[in-house]
Amino acid sequence: LVRLRQRLASSQGGLGRGLLALLSRERLDEDTWESIEDTLLAADIGVVPTQRVVDNLRTRLRVQGTEVADARAVLREELLALVDPSMDRRLQVSGTDGNPGVVLVVGVNGAGKTTTVGKIARILVAEDLKVTLGAADTFRAAAVDQLATWGERVGVEVIRGAEGSDPASVAFEAVKQGVEAGVDTVIVDTAGRLQNKQGLMDELGKVKRVIEKQAPVTEVLLVLDATTGQNGLIQARVFREVVDVTGIVLTKLDGSAKGGIVVAVQRELGVPVKLVGLGEGPDDLAPFDAGAFVDALLG
Ligand code: GDP
Repeated sequence: LVRLRQRLASSQGGLGRGLLALLSRERLDEDTWESIEDTLLAADIGVVPTQRVVDNLRTRLRVQGTEVADARAVLREELLALVDPSMDRRLQVSGTDGNPGVVLVVGVNGAGKTTTVGKIARILVAEDLKVTLGAADTFRAAAVDQLATWGERVGVEVIRGAEGSDPASVAFEAVKQGVEAGVDTVIVDTAGRLQNKQGLMDELGKVKRVIEKQAPVTEVLLVLDATTGQNGLIQARVFREVVDVTGIVLTKLDGSAKGGIVVAVQRELGVPVKLVGLGEGPDDLAPFDAGAFVDALLG
């Protein structure tokens, strides 16, 4: 948690310094509110939430006076409310009735799906869970090889098919072998071709259906690149329509001053951000913590 906080703080130093500096002014006037608004918008928090924070801040501080210490506390409360700390962010990696948990990982190519699958496997293995990976992104040979490398690194089995084979058959095989081996969790990497909505729906729908012939899918994680802004939101909407997303993984937060996208995407999907990617290395994935995140934003 401390590490996450430090990493977020350093990656989003721009935003943090901005807000703190704004609230260090002697008087909180029109300029202050406008600057806060600009800063939140620049961080991709989104127009409506930004307006809400600034309106609430103005109203509350008018009543309470303009003490800087108050202002910081009120801003923290307002930002925290936006991130919604009450959401359940635990990963559903365990199955019921003797089944393994099945985690389906979806998202467009390049968002960081394969990397995220590897990192999650590593976390689960460190918790002494038995894991099998399914390389169902069969359209890109590189993706399958990449996952195989993660499998070796983490020490888990990777089920793969021939290049160009049906993703659903690979997913089926991975869950079948996972069930037979009595593993705790099967994580399935999927293809992220955003060809068209119907195509995506057919493909992911089939993957999910064949998996569920053997064990229920316990978690559908949508992987989104934090640096893609509005475009990422459009993608998120499409995935939300074709599959029941249960959690979001926001990657590349290390390379972005746009951490506010957490707020925007949660609002858009009504689904919690469960994990954040903070780099390309095997340990660069952390549970999302609303309080730490807001503190990092504030600096
Ligand atoms: P996929 O096509 O969705 O499976 O994406 P990949 O897992 O292949 O990742 C695409 C690129 O993004 C790779 O170069 C990854 O190393 C990189 N990447 C993934 N997650 C992160 C992250 O959290 N931070 C950074 N900086 N890079 C990441």
